[in-house]
Amino acid sequence: MQYFLSATLNELLLVLDSESNSEIIAGGTDLVIIMEESGKRPEKLIDITNIKELIGIKEEKFGISIGAVTTIAKLAANNSLPCCLRSGAASIGSPQIRNVGTIGGNICNASPSGDTLTPLICLNADLLLQSTKGERLISTEQFFLGPKKTVLKKNEVLSEIRIGNRYLSGSSGFRMIGQRNGQVISQVNLAVWLKRSAESGLIEEIRIAAGSVAPTPIRIIEAEEMLCGTNPGAKLIFQAARSVQACITPINDVRSTAEYRQDVIIGLFSDIMSQILKEPQSC
Ligand SMILES: Cc1cc2nc3c(=O)[nH]c(=O)nc-3n(C[C@H](O)[C@H](O)[C@H](O)COP(=O)(O)OP(=O)(O)OC[C@H]3O[C@@H](n4cnc5c(N)ncnc54)[C@H](O)[C@@H]3O)c2cc1C
Repeated sequence: MQYFLSATLNELLLVLDSESNSEIIAGGTDLVIIMEESGKRPEKLIDITNIKELIGIKEEKFGISIGAVTTIAKLAANNSLPCCLRSGAASIGSPQIRNVGTIGGNICNASPSGDTLTPLICLNADLLLQSTKGERLISTEQFFLGPKKTVLKKNEVLSEIRIGNRYLSGSSGFRMIGQRNGQVISQVNLAVWLKRSAESGLIEEIRIAAGSVAPTPIRIIEAEEMLCGTNPGAKLIFQAARSVQACITPINDVRSTAEYRQDVIIGLFSDIMSQILKEPQSC
């Protein structure tokens, strides 16, 4: 196996174009484990952690741009990002994992339980995919095809994550449940973003996404429709939580049973909703 340290985005795109059996590595916190467990190695491992264009969080006219090689620790510590994304990042692994793991790696690894994925879906974030042929912008919601499967082509890199100004305002929250506090992957995670009308206080728009409950992270449109245009009390929140529960199709796996996931999502949803409605700015 050859190791290639890319210095620029341009150089990376050329290498990706010319090498058929190559694999991008960022923090390596998913990939190294996969390589060790499978015993398989790509011919060329392309390290992208030196590409400055892909690192950092910047304010832009459209909103916020996050370079794909920005570490999870930097996301968790950035107060200009919405609460759900900061909380999702903060819940990942341990400080060691957060210091090397990247947001691009979390997205491209496409685990249904990835803790930044539901926040990004709620925030209607777009992903910028680049290759020597050009670039395309795709919504996070459309990026995932199944566990470890995405629309990313072999010669493409995820370079940037974009969150629009509308989704930087409003309130949001994230909850995950795992078997213990540190180093644990979610059994279920849930993110909610909502915006209330300044005049009436009614919910103007709401986005709900759940992870580890289906082959990809999913949006729960039925519950969104139930809550939009309302100022929900406990009864309506519980009905919406039931509708979240009805939309998910979890499986039994090493981390949890399907039944547990079905039960626990009711409490996670009610908890996030009461936090957002009572203390919109808390995180
Ligand atoms: C002990 C431990 C605990 C963990 N806990 C959690 C947790 O609680 N929650 C959670 O969500 N995850 C967890 N993880 C998984 C992992 O740390 C995260 O998914 C992390 O964000 C992956 O980022 P990375 O930079 O290390 O990715 P890498 O391992 O470098 O890459 C992962 C995959 O993405 C591809 N890739 C990476 N960057 C790009 C890019 N820019 N463009 C195209 N393809 C790319 C790689 O080719 C590879 O296929 C844990 C892992 C460990 C080892």
